Amino acid sequence: MSSELYQQAQQSLQEYWGFPDFRSGQKEAIRSVLKGNNTLVLLPTGGGKSLCYQVPATVLEGLTVVISPLVALMQDQVQQLNDRGIAATFVNSSISKWEIEQRFANARNGMYDLLYCSPERLKTDLWKAEMPKLNIRLIAIDEAHCISEWGHDFRPSYREIKPSLEDIADEVTWIALTATATPEVREDILQTLSFEESTVVSKGFERPNLKWWVAVTEQKKKKLLQAVAQAAPKGSGLIYGGTRRNCEELSKAIQQKLGIKARAYHAGYESVEREQIQREWISGETPLVVATNAFGMGIDKSDCRYVIHYEMPYSLESYYQEAGRAGRDGEESFPLLLFKPADAIVAERRIKDSYPGREQLQHIYDVLCDHLNLAVGSEMEEAEQVSIEALKKRAGNSRRIVQATLDVLNQLGIIQLIEHLHPQIGIQFVVNPDYIRQQIEEMDNRRKADFLDTLFRQFGGEAFGEMKYMKFDYIQEKLSVSPNALKKGLQVLQDHDQMLLFEATGELPLVQLIDERQASLQLSKQELEQHRDTLLEKLDYMIGYIKTESCREKYIRHYFGEEKVPDCGHCDNCLSKQRQESAVSDSDLRRLKEILSEGPKSFEQIQSEFEWSEARIKQSLSYLMREQKVVSKAKMFHWEA
Ligand code: ADP
Ligand code: MG
Repeated sequence: MSSELYQQAQQSLQEYWGFPDFRSGQKEAIRSVLKGNNTLVLLPTGGGKSLCYQVPATVLEGLTVVISPLVALMQDQVQQLNDRGIAATFVNSSISKWEIEQRFANARNGMYDLLYCSPERLKTDLWKAEMPKLNIRLIAIDEAHCISEWGHDFRPSYREIKPSLEDIADEVTWIALTATATPEVREDILQTLSFEESTVVSKGFERPNLKWWVAVTEQKKKKLLQAVAQAAPKGSGLIYGGTRRNCEELSKAIQQKLGIKARAYHAGYESVEREQIQREWISGETPLVVATNAFGMGIDKSDCRYVIHYEMPYSLESYYQEAGRAGRDGEESFPLLLFKPADAIVAERRIKDSYPGREQLQHIYDVLCDHLNLAVGSEMEEAEQVSIEALKKRAGNSRRIVQATLDVLNQLGIIQLIEHLHPQIGIQFVVNPDYIRQQIEEMDNRRKADFLDTLFRQFGGEAFGEMKYMKFDYIQEKLSVSPNALKKGLQVLQDHDQMLLFEATGELPLVQLIDERQASLQLSKQELEQHRDTLLEKLDYMIGYIKTESCREKYIRHYFGEEKVPDCGHCDNCLSKQRQESAVSDSDLRRLKEILSEGPKSFEQIQSEFEWSEARIKQSLSYLMREQKVVSKAKMFHWEA
């Protein structure tokens, strides 16, 4: 039965995705899921984890529920599935309650193969009421490392997934997927989900086509320019610049000094512009982007030839993920990390400084609750968008501190912080529908009338009475206008015609308090420090990677919990070892040993015994001296064994 299903899965892969075969890792995962085993899938970024649940979803009877942390990724995946002709939808806080109810009704009627939702969603009353009526077969937990406090991206609500689904837990198959699982995280996932007899599919973290490289230097900028000059002829590249200012400066320097088209990318740019930069990078029109770590999430470019870190990330999880964007097509590629010794000290300071103490946590917590109009003892029903800018003003702290404090409140399980990647446009009509219809008929300016007509149809009935939000890009495309023209048009309809109110949300994070508001946060010293210590420990491993003199890929793979890993043979350390070894041959060493075993000899005496070049003799001798087989005393070489 299950082998029949597997054949169907292969057909589905060819039919919907047009791929000839599963990759290794996918095969095992899909077989296991189709047999009904709970399965944990550990595959590197780009390894193809999505298909491990998407394909089974298309062949299994019933619904697959996918739990995913990012609203934006959820939307993208659903869009892609729909484009392939697969019935999928999502429910999250970006859509109205009315729409959510519709989608549940459809799900109940078996209209979807996949239903994506955020972990917070599972706790809502609506979900609790709907769940028993859905014919759920498979539950997929994407980015499963979010379950673990040991992970780099802990989300308290991920811990609630299992309890929320307890009633059906035994009747369904579970699959959890992640790219970054250290042994602690892996254990944590298995335990939290109580996967007892489960299959763990792990493809390993080796990247045979990546030439891992680290350059320790006091002159990072000079080294960067050299490296770019060398790497650029090979194809597209990506530089992680660290700060916004670095990104601007470095991209300018590269253009001026090397004449290579390079663009800066960071959260200071408007989202439309950022998307354009991404597109141009993917198409190869802009061969090099200098970015903050905001770049990359969900970007699929297989032929990136080099990734240079001008500033090191603070964990190997991040480094592996960012550097791993090089060479996804399997062709030789270069991840290079630039490091100056002071970087380590700065990083440690940063972690310690930005780590808020108890008072700071309480302060931002109070500011946040006040901003949300929450009285002590009251609870939040839904996550809400919060502007960091507004918090910053109220709190009287810098943006960095506000952000860092929110992150820690998130880590401590006090709030839930959800990044909202897609900017949105919110519209509320303040006149009645008939008036708008009439205006559309009568307007002299036909372009304006069309604009209003499209808005009216897109936002529909729901935008009367309350603000309704839709994706900025989507609306922009529907109206076929530039981003600026969209905003100007709305401004006119708001200020001049007074027909509507609008709001451009930018990238506001969604925030939800986990419990009711407390007058004073109860946190033990241990709780307060634990997270900071985890961060410092991760930094230590990162620096260990830089300082190691043995194989770098092996170091990474050990960190991620792989055992018995061989040297990769293609990182800088492996290559320099090979070079040293290849310079001296075994037979040369044997002959030297023979000669020197007879008694100490001067360099000239040795030279007279051999027909070899001077360099060859010197290389072999210094090799033997490093190995402490030979010592030189008073210009004589002694065999010491
Ligand atoms: P992950 O979630 O592991 O980072 P994705 O699921 O996003 O990776 O897949 C990465 C890329 O690999 C996608 O472009 C996907 O279409 C492609 N891919 C996945 N499986 C296959 C396959 N069997 N054959 C060819 N391409 C695949
Ligand atoms: Mg993924």
